[in-house]
Amino acid sequence: MGIAETKFIDETLSTLRSGAFAGNGRALEGKSTMENYGTLTFDKKAMARNLSKAVCRKLIAVIENNERLDAEIADEVAHGMKEWALDQGVTHFCHWFQPMRGVTAEKHDAFLSFDDQGLPIARFSGRQLIQGEPDASSFPSGGTRSTFEARGYTAWDPTSAAFIFKTKKASTLVVPSVFLSWTGNVLDMKMPLLRALNTVEDRAFKLLKLFGNRSAKFVRMTVGAEQEYFLVSKDFYEARPDLMITGRTLFGKSSAKDQQMEDHYFGAIKPKVLDFMADVDAALFERGIPAKTRHNEVAPNQFEIAPLFEEANIAVDHNLQAMEIMRKIADDHGFALLLHEKPFAGINGSGKHLNWSLMDSEGNNLLEPGAAPKRNIQFLTFVGAILAGVDKFGALLRSSVADAGNDYRLGANEAPPAIMSLYLGDYLANLFNELEKGTSISKSVREEIDHGLKRLPTVLADNSDRNRTSPIAFTGNKFEFRAVGASQSTSEPAAVTALILAYGIDTVLEKIDKAKGEDITAKAVEAVKQIAKETGRVRFEGNGYSSDWQKEAAKRKLPNLRNTPEALEVLTSEEVVALYKRYGILTEEELHAKQEIRLEAYIKTKVIELTLLKEMSLTGVIPAMLRHTSTVGDAVEALGAASKTLKGRLKSYGGIVDDLYAGVDRVTAVLTRLEKEGGTLKQAHFLAGQGVETALALRAACDRAETVVEEGEWPFPNYREMLFLL
Ligand code: ADP
Ligand code: MG
Repeated sequence: MGIAETKFIDETLSTLRSGAFAGNGRALEGKSTMENYGTLTFDKKAMARNLSKAVCRKLIAVIENNERLDAEIADEVAHGMKEWALDQGVTHFCHWFQPMRGVTAEKHDAFLSFDDQGLPIARFSGRQLIQGEPDASSFPSGGTRSTFEARGYTAWDPTSAAFIFKTKKASTLVVPSVFLSWTGNVLDMKMPLLRALNTVEDRAFKLLKLFGNRSAKFVRMTVGAEQEYFLVSKDFYEARPDLMITGRTLFGKSSAKDQQMEDHYFGAIKPKVLDFMADVDAALFERGIPAKTRHNEVAPNQFEIAPLFEEANIAVDHNLQAMEIMRKIADDHGFALLLHEKPFAGINGSGKHLNWSLMDSEGNNLLEPGAAPKRNIQFLTFVGAILAGVDKFGALLRSSVADAGNDYRLGANEAPPAIMSLYLGDYLANLFNELEKGTSISKSVREEIDHGLKRLPTVLADNSDRNRTSPIAFTGNKFEFRAVGASQSTSEPAAVTALILAYGIDTVLEKIDKAKGEDITAKAVEAVKQIAKETGRVRFEGNGYSSDWQKEAAKRKLPNLRNTPEALEVLTSEEVVALYKRYGILTEEELHAKQEIRLEAYIKTKVIELTLLKEMSLTGVIPAMLRHTSTVGDAVEALGAASKTLKGRLKSYGGIVDDLYAGVDRVTAVLTRLEKEGGTLKQAHFLAGQGVETALALRAACDRAETVVEEGEWPFPNYREMLFLL
């Protein structure tokens, strides 16, 4: 259990004891939920009960103190896990991993084995725990496997607790794992994350030591991801092939009222939804996932869940589990969970705010401005490091959240723009501007830094979060990366954040090394001053949605990568390849593979959307439009000369029908042209340009048809129904 979890349990138990919940009938329920906390994970409690003291200690040392795993203990750990799992009715185990296509994968094996007498027994060996061999041939490898070897293996990640996955009939022991090829090539999202975390944690620790910290044993990156989502009634969902297959509506005219009144945000939660949320929280608690807040979001039927922060690797795994759990529980409640970044055009999209910070082994948040003078310059040094990282590798950070779904959100008018800038809040921004201007580091400037930062926490508390238009914001004692899409794994953005922060810390360290000054504080101030000068262009406090910012950013030469193929090109640029190589995260070949896999995913998504849009137009929208047109035609005939208005209408309906057919033909032409575009990058660019335009044109015709066809005759649930009924 991480620091955050332990703290959370303590806090919640004390709330329960204080009777805060008493009297509303939920106290008991709350208590039993708390008592179930972590029962489906092989956590410290389960370890203590099922392992010898010595092995338990060794395993905890691996998890909590970064010690190396002693393979000797694997057999006993496996045995203990199996006993614990059998007690809970588990029959199978699986390695659970994160292939590059972005979701999770698993393959189940029964514990079943036969003893010397030929009798069936349950067996789970250390080898089975440590290593699995799924048939990897159908996972996307972007071409790496053919060059290396066909098979891949999974390897246990002991730092992320094994857990039990239960359905009505099946119970499985799930072992979080990495996924590699036999020659050691990375085939997944977890391995680069773990490597990047090691790198940044190592660099941050070095910096602490440089500032004279003696008590910290290590540093960890912490992450807490706020998750937005929509719920729609399952009946509506099943009547919308586009929602079922692509996760979003491919057309749909906006409802007379949607989010204009902003009355949904933080509004009272409907009892039906609250029941869903309660079941989700209970299931998350059983898995040791510290769900903390739940509320209504901006759009109707849009909601958010946020956990307490945890170590980055665990937080990533937990978010992946949470998405799965929520999907399943929504289904039990007669809802469909929409995690797509933009399920409804014109309505607020769904993101995932990746909050992150660094914490030392003593539980100190390294991004807490704090009051102790020595820590202040240390804090500024970390801020300088992230500025340096984003200044140099903002485009890479943008690419970490690039996919077909997020293209509908980034750069549109409610999500953060695709330009990576940092919002520091008035106080810090002014401080950095001062540092940028300052010609010499006088004693008084240093005193000002120390003095000024003492007031920082209160000043920032007012300030933080006011600017919702920035993709990266300092929010008091952590940074918040808001460009992540709701359906995405947080692995990639967390890994890239860690990596560019490591680069930034190294940049600061090099500057400190070269700086003149009598002590470390003076040298560090000098280094931060230089960074302030070099990174002015990524600091932006204004409105990120405005067109002025687009112009200003272009002047500042900040990359503005508008769509996925543009963003993914960055992955194989010389600088990015050198960065991944410098820190031993991925080879050039692996980066090419990653780029290829993500481009392929983009192309497939786009082709599916176009094909389905065409299909739904031909088999649903056009027939409805034709039926309506003949009804009106009949009326025109019946009314004869008295029907001037109707005649006009009829003519305009003819126009809609023409546009629908023309739109369908254009989509067909695009899909045919696509075949002729050579190479994934070209195909992706073609789809991002003409593909998107063509889809928009056909959509516009569909939406016009929807405004005229009689409501009962429209073959699909409409926006009003999907957004307001549950
Ligand atoms: P805000 O209201 O500014 O968004 P909250 O305190 O509500 O801040 O936190 C939002 C998210 O940030 C939560 O998921 C929380 O776990 C996470 N968070 C808070 N502190 C940290 C931290 N030090 N490191 C990583 N994540 C954090
Ligand atoms: Mg937030």
